[in-house]
Amino acid sequence: MRSAKDRRVRPSTSSGQAFETTIAGSLPKPAWLAAPEKLWPDWQVAGVALREAQLDATRVALFEQERAGIDVVSDGEQSRRHFVHGFACALEGVDAGKIGRRGIRGDRYEADCPTIVGPVRRRRAVHADEITFARAATERRLKITLPGPMTLVDTLVDEHYGSREKAAFAFAHALRAEIETLEALGVDVVQIDEPAFNVYFDDVEAWGIAALDACVEGTRCETAVHVCYGYGVPANVAWKSTLGEEWNQYAFLFPLLAQSTIGGVSFEFAGSHVPERVLGMLGEKRAIVGVVDVATSRIETPEEVRDTISVARRYLPDDRIACSSNCGFAPMPREVAYAKLRALGAGAVLARTLDD
Ligand code: ZN
Repeated sequence: MRSAKDRRVRPSTSSGQAFETTIAGSLPKPAWLAAPEKLWPDWQVAGVALREAQLDATRVALFEQERAGIDVVSDGEQSRRHFVHGFACALEGVDAGKIGRRGIRGDRYEADCPTIVGPVRRRRAVHADEITFARAATERRLKITLPGPMTLVDTLVDEHYGSREKAAFAFAHALRAEIETLEALGVDVVQIDEPAFNVYFDDVEAWGIAALDACVEGTRCETAVHVCYGYGVPANVAWKSTLGEEWNQYAFLFPLLAQSTIGGVSFEFAGSHVPERVLGMLGEKRAIVGVVDVATSRIETPEEVRDTISVARRYLPDDRIACSSNCGFAPMPREVAYAKLRALGAGAVLARTLDD
């Protein structure tokens, strides 16, 4: 029997192509699956019906990405209530039923968080079912997003390790094992989401990069890390307004990430106060530039997307530039997210034809 990988037709968009398009990860969930426009929505159905609904929603997510011309598609995180909980709660040592309210991302907002109650171990594959489904449902290159070790630790209550670093490396080992499973199922790109990198700078330098590298050690698929200023929820929008005219977080982080073994860096750019010069700070990494903003419902025009790509071209060779959304689309209205997808796809096509 041929494997999923053999069966796949590889489109002409290889990973080296200029202005390859992807999304940060999540898409809004349909209202028949989960309460709309929420970050931690409750499921609308249960049991077998829930599984069916999640996979049907995955079909819609893939269809909308393909229709928009997205090259590297994701399952839209339709089978996960939240990108952190989906992974963490499947591990031994994390008690999903023991919820503690805590401030996360440097107390930017409060969240109900599951608890680490013992040594973290991955006893079974976490995302294998939905990735097997997604792999069979699309011929495009497939990406999965996984929460990074620092972000996991920042979104859980720790009653066991007593050290963010120790807990992070336990999660890194679990992530490494999960990535090996997902690679075997035909995933082309693994993206580690580390929004916490934009908050805990001392920790990033002390152990964050090492924990990130531990996740992807020995991987064969393409890898990336996503570091952003968060979903377009009110708490983040309010926080951004306190960051001043020039957001200097990436200027600190990018030189550190340039030293890591990760393949690419996905970051927020469009509509932000991120200074252009950080585009030149990624060393040899692939830059996955946020060309559509998730903090506004205004739909970018393809020309605006093209212009954002043009800014990146002043600092980077074309084959190291890919295009994405600034962050996940999860809490947005569905039609807004899909329209932004289409702007992203169309803008990349415009950029590709600039020199023709
Ligand atoms: Zn993000």
